[in-house]
Amino acid sequence: ADVAPEYIRGLPPYVPGKPSSEVRREQGVDSITKLASNENPLGASPKAIAAVSAVMQGMAIYPDPTGYDLKMALCNRYGVQPEQIVLGNGSSELLDLCARAFLVNGSEAVYSQYSFIAYPVAVKCVGATGVSVPAMDYGHDLDRMAAAITERTRLVFVANPNNPTGTLLTEAQIRGFMTQVPQHVLVILDEAYTEYLPPEKRMDSMALQHEFPNMVVLRTFSKAYGLAGVRVGFAVAHPSVADLLNRTRLVFNVNALAQAAAVAALGDDEFVARTYETNRAGQQQLTAAFERMGLPYVPSYANFVLVDFSGANLPAGEINKQLLSRGIIVRPVAPYGLAQHLRMTVGLPEENDILISALEEILKK
Ligand code: PMP
Repeated sequence: ADVAPEYIRGLPPYVPGKPSSEVRREQGVDSITKLASNENPLGASPKAIAAVSAVMQGMAIYPDPTGYDLKMALCNRYGVQPEQIVLGNGSSELLDLCARAFLVNGSEAVYSQYSFIAYPVAVKCVGATGVSVPAMDYGHDLDRMAAAITERTRLVFVANPNNPTGTLLTEAQIRGFMTQVPQHVLVILDEAYTEYLPPEKRMDSMALQHEFPNMVVLRTFSKAYGLAGVRVGFAVAHPSVADLLNRTRLVFNVNALAQAAAVAALGDDEFVARTYETNRAGQQQLTAAFERMGLPYVPSYANFVLVDFSGANLPAGEINKQLLSRGIIVRPVAPYGLAQHLRMTVGLPEENDILISALEEILKK
């Protein structure tokens, strides 16, 4: 390990949500309620499951390295050109490809404090410098982010809605920011949770990307489309940027099952609508309970809620432990610098009830 560069040895290990099987064994509980990783509580679209079953017969065949069918489906849906699309092994891989293609040792990348933890990791992996800009009301302070750009900056990451806080920037704010960003800087607009936005808050990011060629829009099939386990996401960028990203990716980065699942999921509007409604109702159920319990939370535009336990009778770490002992997995966000908060994914009504009752019990003691 000594021969690895200093910036690799200095990487903090990723702290994932505990797997259900580990909690089951460690805590000796049979039933697990996992509300930790912003997955879709409805599972995957039945159409996606059927598509994967059909493709499984052809498992011996390499996946299409160009992702032709999926790109065509995305072009139809979003009115973009195939040359603008890069497919990834989840949008996480696309973040990584952006860092690999555009950063070198000595360049800088700007992101917001309390933003997605994969940004600093992707940046540090290539020996570049991450510039974390203090958050404003848990969200992005775009003016300060613009001011943090130097001649060494090559990338800016903006998560909208943001993980782990659920905050949202308006189209006007993003547009205003883009006009301040110099041409030598690429802005990665990460919209992993965009399908959870109410219609009046949605924006035409593909049109925005067209207007600002130094913008890359990232989307994923892991959240509202319910395909986190098969790993597929995509980027929409200027053809010249997409070309570079496509040259740096592994040829078969998106497997055949993932490609087929994504095409089918994209065609299942009814499932995404049901996901949206389930999330809306679940948000209301959870936030009403947090209010009853006097727990402050950050109003969220995504499928999770960040809850502040700094005024509670127990530290957030202890509350997390007690939830785990009941088989309930939520997400500690201490690695994000939020030691007294927990992030809770919105589940099915019965899962939310289990979480609410457990919190009531733990906080009453
Ligand atoms: N961006 C954000 C803001 C996220 O929260 C996540 C998932 N946690 C991702 C990207 C990556 O998701 P995936 O790799 O599953 O597409």
